[in-house]
Amino acid sequence: MGHSCLYIGSIVPLAEKSLISRIRGRAARRPGVAAGIGDDCAILNIPDGHQVLVTTDFSLEGVHFRREWHPADAVGHRCLARGLSDIAAMGGDPIAAFLSLALPPKIPQSWVNQFVKGLLKLADAFHVSLAGGDTAQSPNGVLADIAVVGSVSKGKAIRRSGARRGDRIYVTGTLGGAAATLKMLFSGRKLRPTDFATHFYPSPRIGVGRFLMEKALASAMVDISDGFSTDLAHICQESGVGAEIHAPAIPCASIGKPAREVELQFALHGGDDYELLFTARPGKRVPSRIAGVVVSQIGHITRHKDIVLMNDEGAGSELRPQGWEHFK
Ligand code: ADP
Ligand code: MG
Repeated sequence: MGHSCLYIGSIVPLAEKSLISRIRGRAARRPGVAAGIGDDCAILNIPDGHQVLVTTDFSLEGVHFRREWHPADAVGHRCLARGLSDIAAMGGDPIAAFLSLALPPKIPQSWVNQFVKGLLKLADAFHVSLAGGDTAQSPNGVLADIAVVGSVSKGKAIRRSGARRGDRIYVTGTLGGAAATLKMLFSGRKLRPTDFATHFYPSPRIGVGRFLMEKALASAMVDISDGFSTDLAHICQESGVGAEIHAPAIPCASIGKPAREVELQFALHGGDDYELLFTARPGKRVPSRIAGVVVSQIGHITRHKDIVLMNDEGAGSELRPQGWEHFK
């Protein structure tokens, strides 16, 4: 146990032990978890014939969220959504989540409660158990690291490396909503509640990923967390191929009614959308709606190792990865 939160009261967070027992009391334990919070390790049951998926993601104050802009429950929701989205991108099923949380000494207990509430609400919606974590004091800002463990049928995980020339390229939902929402927040404009939900409470595409895995439809897949242009480059790099994208086919989120050109820039390079980007062999019939989510075909894979964006008039230009990259 760490010698962490020494402050008790309502303005500052509960001491470590009380905080953990409060989280423990609220976290539901499901069949995949033989032992959850309370021991040195969690014990998970992995279904026979399955492989384990593991992913971890930081949510750092000032980097991934701001306490002035993001409601605490949304920060908790997004913290877990980042991990679930990675599981979705492999075609997997999430089993358990682990939360390492470092809190600054003066943070209000209500913030922590709302954060945990938002995280556990999403966990319930996807039948995931919060099965452990770590708690410490942070010298500066909230630091949350989520680890999610999932499973997938042996050999069936959808990798970034499987795209081949001629494969069609698809995306789920709409792109750019998160970036557009942030822009509106920056400029102090009022948001509609539905627009707000797109950015603050994104829904990880677990159902879509599982469908594509079960039907063996996708040859490669990635989730769009850093921005479409950057995440498409990940598939191209891992697969050793290029891509041609048809700009008019990109499903742009329309928030705050910006010009089409602005919308397109958000869709191409904005991060935090948590949609799926996947490829499928040309012979596969990919439904236009999967698990209630619209699926759009937006281009195809090419042999040349560059990514080309075709405009309405059929003119092509290079699409460079301009999404989110740390240390840049
Ligand atoms: P240890 O020192 O053995 O790592 P801790 O005292 O840190 O154990 O944690 C006690 C239990 O509470 C463990 O099961 C741990 O996984 C869990 N835990 C600690 N912090 C969190 C957290 N922020 N969220 C969920 N579970 C937590
Ligand atoms: Mg510990």
